[in-house]
Amino acid sequence: MLGTQKRWQEDLFVAGPLSSLIPDDHILKQVDKVLDLSWLRKEVADLYCSNNGRPSIDPESALRLMLAGFFEGIVFDRKLMRQAQVNLAIRWFAGYRLDETLPDHSSLTKIRQRWGEERFKKIFLKTVQSCINAGLVNGETVHVDATLIRADVSWESLTTEHAETVIKENTAEDDKPKGRGRPSKKQPKPKKRSTTDPDATMTTSSHTHRMEPFYKQHGAVDDICGVVVDVEVTTGEVSEGGQLPDQIKRIEENIGREIETISCDAGYAHGKNFEHLEQKNIEAIIPTQKENSKPKRLPIRLFKYDAKNKIVKCPGGKILTCSSHNEDGSIYRARNKDCKYCSLRKRCISESAKTRTIKIIPGYESLLRARRRHKEPDKKFRQTYSRHRYQVEGMHGEAKTQHGLRRAVRRGLSNVAIQAYLTAAVINLKRLATYAGGLSDVFLGYLANIFAVLTSQIVMRIFLTNRTRKLNWKMTG
Ligand code: SF4
Repeated sequence: MLGTQKRWQEDLFVAGPLSSLIPDDHILKQVDKVLDLSWLRKEVADLYCSNNGRPSIDPESALRLMLAGFFEGIVFDRKLMRQAQVNLAIRWFAGYRLDETLPDHSSLTKIRQRWGEERFKKIFLKTVQSCINAGLVNGETVHVDATLIRADVSWESLTTEHAETVIKENTAEDDKPKGRGRPSKKQPKPKKRSTTDPDATMTTSSHTHRMEPFYKQHGAVDDICGVVVDVEVTTGEVSEGGQLPDQIKRIEENIGREIETISCDAGYAHGKNFEHLEQKNIEAIIPTQKENSKPKRLPIRLFKYDAKNKIVKCPGGKILTCSSHNEDGSIYRARNKDCKYCSLRKRCISESAKTRTIKIIPGYESLLRARRRHKEPDKKFRQTYSRHRYQVEGMHGEAKTQHGLRRAVRRGLSNVAIQAYLTAAVINLKRLATYAGGLSDVFLGYLANIFAVLTSQIVMRIFLTNRTRKLNWKMTG
């Protein structure tokens, strides 16, 4: 029979608590079981006047509102407060009664400004600590990766940096970096910068293959349950490879132990990084990039580097000595007369060149060792790197598709960092609610599945046995 719903009916009173109207498996109800913000009031107390002024919004309620927004993928304050008016779960999670007036959206902006980036970093670190306490992090293997966040600026706001170009062109000869190498004839292209968000820098996205204003999130995820153990935001042009030593230091501080294995993509395969990991005795699961050698030239690997004596021995048996040195590496040059009469000259240098030069980057020996080790990756390398894909790259995908990190909501490095910390905190709370708070539910779910499979197999076996018996009876009868 078709049912009807009386839409005009309005209850004057609702019996029972507000929580009884929210399903038990709702994410905010699950997270509420594991979320402890009792420390927050004390943490931000110094930012408020103790004996004067209008009472502020309760810090815990304000943070709960922000977190609820990120859980629901609502990153804009105005939209969040509109949703909170009608969303029972958000109201209950933030601690507001049905008839209570919610704060204005602008209050959340003021709170973010007042608390600053450091307080939000602490909120994120507290979620890491909660996951450690619940046994969801062991810190043995950590996956590291970076992802771009599109800045909240329009194409019209981009302008070319004329001033910087003019200053560079007029730089006096004396001010140029010292070194005996040949000066570069190439003039750098004038950069573009946004006038509305100067912190964002132009970077090529691997997705769209064009230069856009970006920020970059450097993230690290523990291998056990995918808990985010470190997050840092920089401008888009910062190379992720150069951030690894600092990132390892932060991760070890956050989890309170030394890492044993680290996995990264080929963007981190720098000689410096391999050297640092060797010094710290950390196993590197990093695919090495192929040697960048010009075709038809003797590859650099045939030149033997002697780090002790600071010389390079070429395939022709001659010695190349260091001619210039900077932070990118050392240039080793053969003598003109050695190359002039060498039998390998045609395969080694071009017609116009007089001599061969080799660049030895910092940590070159460690890079060679890593290349040799990973030439034929072993089982552990393959397994850990496949976990890297879905753990840290999966975390970045989750942050972008479910929690709005694809695009920065506000402008400025500090605001984007706050967005990244809140997103990472929300992901950790989800892991905590799933593995710690909801473990019994998950376990019961598994048991129910196993029982259903076993029951169906037993029923099927009985059915098949009966059918075989009938067939046998027919054939013999
Ligand atoms: S051309 Fe010069 S650098 Fe190359 S193998 Fe001969 S001597 Fe060595």
